[in-house]
Amino acid sequence: MSERIHMSSPDVGELEEAAVVAAMRSGWIAPLGPDVDAFEREIASRVGVAHGVALSSGTAALHLGLLSLGVGPGTVVVTSTMTFAATTNAVMYTGAEPYFVDADVTTGNMDPVLLRRALERLRASGETVSAIVPVDLLGKTVDYTGILAVAAEFEVPVLADAAESLGATHDGRAAGSFGRASIVSFNGNKIMTTSGGGMLLTDDAELAQHVRYLATQARQPVVHYEHTDVGYNYRLSNLLAALGRAQLSRLDDMIASRRRMRDRYKALFGPVEGVEVFGAAGDEHDNVWLTSIVVDEAVTGWAPSELAGFLAQDDIESRPLWKPMHLQPVFAGARGEITGTSEQLFSRGLTLPSGSALTEAQRDRVAARVTEFLRERSA
Ligand SMILES: *Cc1c(COP(=O)(O)O)cnc(C)c1O
Repeated sequence: MSERIHMSSPDVGELEEAAVVAAMRSGWIAPLGPDVDAFEREIASRVGVAHGVALSSGTAALHLGLLSLGVGPGTVVVTSTMTFAATTNAVMYTGAEPYFVDADVTTGNMDPVLLRRALERLRASGETVSAIVPVDLLGKTVDYTGILAVAAEFEVPVLADAAESLGATHDGRAAGSFGRASIVSFNGNKIMTTSGGGMLLTDDAELAQHVRYLATQARQPVVHYEHTDVGYNYRLSNLLAALGRAQLSRLDDMIASRRRMRDRYKALFGPVEGVEVFGAAGDEHDNVWLTSIVVDEAVTGWAPSELAGFLAQDDIESRPLWKPMHLQPVFAGARGEITGTSEQLFSRGLTLPSGSALTEAQRDRVAARVTEFLRERSA
């Protein structure tokens, strides 16, 4: 039996190991320290914003970003249905109600036309929309030009979920720099990792300060532990920030490595009628975090689940695209502007091994297996 090939394994080596050991030997263990400060400066500078607040996860960054925008009970947050549950979970923590917006078919990202429809409907019923949370799906940015124009017209702040898109750009500006604030994730499967971690990014000094305050147990600046707000313990550890700094120095190489695999899938599936590499148009601006294909079974004669099964027999991991939030039992009954696009992407999509740590031998094995499947099915 050959070794298992995962969709997106952490890509860490000697550089990361040395960085973590150096941080440990420096004595800055508990838990903040100079690597956290430097990591915040380096990510903020890479993205082109004034402030970064390093946190224990992307989910924590979403939670505190929402709280700092005044999101809470009795308000509505308009967000993408095509996403990972963390986005909606953070809305739920605040007590606000999520309102789901369906996707553009070519990207899976929030459709600005549907966002407008949602905001018109909510305004007509006199409800308070406290934030819009669009999600950059699989490393391709949202149409921020369209989304931010609608948001400005309705005067609703945008917290951008850029958990998957660090390194991507829209209109020459970096993912993580849009809206009142953005969040990125450094979870183990993301484009770069701190093992677990995230960051809130913003040009708004007051917002950054408030997030920092909430993340450190909301301590008032006095010696005797005075508290006037409920706080959280959400800061990133110095050891993990050191790991993140090493990863950031390799980010462009890791993106290039993922792009080589994307190009390989384009060559494999290009000649196959009824299969498209998802979001391939304009993907020179993406960080190409994960590569998925979208399969029209009526044309191919095979379903994505059949390819998934064939790959699994050789211990190669693949998965459907995110199951839309409005289909999740936990969010049953939530309102939204739902057109069926995200449901269609969910039923037709398949995400393939995309990680930057894939060896040449693993890439060859995936390609050979896909080729074998396509040959069998076209015979
Ligand atoms: C990974 C992810 C998150 C959460 O980040 P964590 O660091 O794992 O908490 C949020 N939103 C999206 C879209 C994600 O993919």
